[in-house]
Parts: sequence; structure tokens; C-alpha cells
Amino acid sequence: MASATSGAYPPALESHEQEHIIEIIKDWTIGNGLALRPPPAVISTEADPRGISAVSAPVTIFPSPFPKVCFDQAKLVQTAYNELYAAVSRDEEFLKKAVDEYAISNQPNRVIDGDEFIGNLWNIHLKVKAEGYTQSTSLGLFRSDYMVHQDSSANPPILQAKQVEFNTIAASFGGLSHYTSALHKYLASTEYPLLNQAIQAGSLDLPANPSTEGLASGITAAYHAYGEPTLGHPKCVIFLIQKGERNVFDQRHLEYQVVKDSPSTPVFRLAFSEIFEYTSLADTEKRQLLYRPPQNPSRVYEVAVVYIRSGYGPDDYPDQRAWDARYHLERSNAIKCPTVLTQVAGIKKVQQILATPRPSTEPSILGKFINDGTREAQGLWKTFTNIYPMDTSDAGLEARKKALDPELCKAYVLKPQREGGGNNIYRTAIPEFLKTIPEAHWNSYILMELITPPPVSNIILRNGQIEKGGVICELGVFGSCVWDQKTGEVKHNKEHGYLLRTKGDQSEEGGVAAGYGCMDSVSLI
Ligand code: ADP
Ligand code: MG
Ligand code: MG
Repeated sequence: MASATSGAYPPALESHEQEHIIEIIKDWTIGNGLALRPPPAVISTEADPRGISAVSAPVTIFPSPFPKVCFDQAKLVQTAYNELYAAVSRDEEFLKKAVDEYAISNQPNRVIDGDEFIGNLWNIHLKVKAEGYTQSTSLGLFRSDYMVHQDSSANPPILQAKQVEFNTIAASFGGLSHYTSALHKYLASTEYPLLNQAIQAGSLDLPANPSTEGLASGITAAYHAYGEPTLGHPKCVIFLIQKGERNVFDQRHLEYQVVKDSPSTPVFRLAFSEIFEYTSLADTEKRQLLYRPPQNPSRVYEVAVVYIRSGYGPDDYPDQRAWDARYHLERSNAIKCPTVLTQVAGIKKVQQILATPRPSTEPSILGKFINDGTREAQGLWKTFTNIYPMDTSDAGLEARKKALDPELCKAYVLKPQREGGGNNIYRTAIPEFLKTIPEAHWNSYILMELITPPPVSNIILRNGQIEKGGVICELGVFGSCVWDQKTGEVKHNKEHGYLLRTKGDQSEEGGVAAGYGCMDSVSLI
């Protein structure tokens, strides 16, 4: 008999079993919205001119075994992480150093020089600061990502969740991950017990995953925190999206949940590229954001919350008008998820600074932001792995040596200050890559030790095709936080379930919508 704790997991499927389970998953995923819009390569625009098709999200056929100790650790520290990033967002001086001259003052090679994108974001903050922010409430819908690290030098080996990154903007899959857990739960009661190598119902430890409800409750909390509209229009929530988004059902599940919880809340989707077309600022001191829906432009809403699922990378800012649109939102009275400052708090440079150990004579950097004596904060500290600056400080010069060395570089990943997957440089590609960019820009990157989780096997179903073999799993834990940017008061701080993303162990990146990774859920071991 197979179980997630036995060596025979996942069970080997005979071909008729495999065909049967593919049929079951095909229907369940579409029936429950565990789906994406198809890429043009799968369904051509000729075959589907009105864009009505949906395809199953890539999923594992079985939940992947995941150490309970790491799962619990990651969930335990989420509210401390929420608080930490809320506090970092409020510390303008700290963020300025991160984007500007953290390592060495008066040097020309700063992150902001090497990275125009972050520089442009920062300039928006400076402009709004000069005229005065009108909204002091902030909403963060965060996701902290981890991989399991095995310290084999200890006996028995110690397993720890180590942080890959912390996402402060457009953290996705909170909508789909709830349904992936539900799919595996369904299969565990209906299909796995009937397999030749049966998994008995109830033998897998499949934790609850309230990610959709949780994130929606964060949006609703911010909506209430906005208070009453003052211009005589009803208030609303806007999901600010990218046109042609394939991962639309992930977003829709959150939207439907907001409306389910509070049916009188109007929720609209607006494309980032159409901000100026449908919104304006009231000519008042508060600069309320007013929205006129295209289906009825005579209606006006006061936007209480803008949930930004776009704007995280340069592609959304093809011209100055796009940057002006972001500025327009930032100076409005709507509660932004996230503000520019919270977005900047999520850059990899900040993660590197937070994770860099300080001499024992200096106070801990965590203590600057949160009470670092709590169990949660202690647990948070343990999730850090080695991350180095690539600047001209002593640590940076040391990191440059490792990055350029053909042997040492094999243990590292080089990351720019970017989001959304597909931007990193791995192992032996690092020295070659560095040679192609001016040395003055190297410090807009960070160098991070690769986390190498213990081997796990699973079967991935992608576009109806099976991929079997070794996989690497990345756990994301969701959280929401509403805080006052001026006073620091935290009004809402919660942990909300998880995402498990799994990729073949030959692939470096794991984005599901981008086509490398797939949705998964944990079976705790
Ligand atoms: P992004 O913001 O683009 O998602 P990430 O830091 O999450 O950037 O990196 C993208 C992917 O690269 C991750 O999902 C993971 O698969 C891989 N990765 C990143 N850092 C590490 C690491 N330290 N060890 C192993 N894999 C990593
Ligand atoms: Mg990211
Ligand atoms: Mg990531």
C-alpha cells in the first residue's frame, strides 16, 4: 500500500489508471475553475475567435509529500513577516538606502542607477510625498515563498523552510491554490483508494487551505477601513489587471469571494493601460479616485481599494503615460495594495539586507522593525538563507569573486530587482552573464545561495500530457495586513493558507502561468 510516508509514493500508475485519472482531473479542474485561459499555442485565435476557451491548470496528480515541521514553521512566521514588511514600507530612510546607496555612500554605482525601473517607482513616491499623501491606510496581500533545506551535517538531518523571496505586489495563485488542495482532497476520497497500489482514504495528511477566503477578507478589511465615501457616490473595489491575463480565474476567485462575503461591495476589473480612460481624481484636498465603468459611464464610484495585479515589471510601463498613470493612482485617496513604498519593500535588495547577519556588537536589523524577541520573530530569522550584495562593499567584493568563479558559482543564483519569474541567472551562467553588463550595474543584483530540497517524485499533468520524475516544490504562505502608514498601527494581520508550486527538477524557474511549474498541494509527512 502506498502512503506519502512510504517509499512507494506516489504509486506507479498502470496505463488504464493513468488515462482514467486524467479524465477525472480534466473535468474536475474545469468544473471548479482550476483553470487558465489558453495560450495561443494551445488554442489558436482562429479556432476560438471570441476567447471563450479555458484549459485546466497544470497540476500534480498526487499531493507532494512535504515536511510538517517546515510547513508549520512557514505558517507560524507569516504574521511576523506581514508586520515586518508593513514596518519596512514605513521606513523611508531604510528603503532609500536600499534603492540608493545602502552599501557605500557617494558612489556612483547604486541600485537606482543600475535599475531604472526601481528608480522610476522611487521618483513617484518622492513626487507624492512632496505634495502630501492623502491616504495613510495601506493594504498588503503578501506571499512568502520557501523551499525545504536539508542540513545533512546534523544527525539526524535538520529540515528547515528557507525563504526564496517575499512578494509584496501581485502575489498570485491564492485563488487557484485553494482549489488545488480541494482537487487532491477529492481524489483522495474517490480515486486513490481504488488504485492498484491503493492509498486508503484518510491516510494522507491534507491540511485545510483557506487562501481564497483569507485574501478576500484582507480586501474587505481595507474596504471597511476606507470609511464612508464623502462625495455622494458609492464606493467600490478595483482589481487593476493586465490585458489578456491568462491567470484570470485565480483573480476571479478572489473577486467572487469578496462579493460572496459582502454582496453589496461593487468590484470592477480595470486594465492598467486604461487607468486614465476610466478614472479621474476629484478636485478636492483628498483627491478621491473616481471610477466610471465602461458599461455605464453615467455611474460614478469612489474607489476605496485598488488591488494591483499588474505594474510589477517594466512591460506594464511602455511609455511615460503608463508611469503617469501609476503616479495618478498613488496620489489618489484610494487604499493601494500595494503602495509604491510597499512594492519597493519587496525588492530582493531589501530581502538581502534583512537576511545579512550583523556583527554581534550591532543590534539586529529585525529589532529595528519588529519585536524580535517573540517566537514568531525567532522563527522568521531561521527562514533566512545566505544572500550577498553585489556592490563594492567587502561582502560585495567577496560575492563577486564567488559569482565569477567557474566552480563556486554553481552554488548560487543571481537575481535582479525584478518580479514575475524568468529573470534570474543560475549557476554557471552567472560569470558569462556578468561579463555582458557594465560592472557599474552589478550592484543592482543580489547573489543568493541555492536551496536544494531533498528529492521528491510526482506526476505532473500539463495540457493533457504526463511528466513523471523528480520534482522541486516551493511553498508560498499568504498573508494580509492593513496598517496605518503614518502611525504604524496594524489594524488587521492574518495568515491565509498556502500555495504549493512544483516543477520538474531539471527546470530552474517555477512559474505556473509562464509554463514551467504546476499547481500542487501538500501531503504532510
Ligand atoms: P520572482 O520574483 O521572479 O518570482 P524568485 O526569487 O522567486 O523571483 O525566483 C524565481 C524562481 O527561481 C523561484 O520560484 C525558484 O524556483 C527559483 N529560485 C530562486 N531563488 C532560489 C534559491 N535560492 N534556491 C533555489 N531556487 C531558487
Ligand atoms: Mg517575486
Ligand atoms: Mg518567486
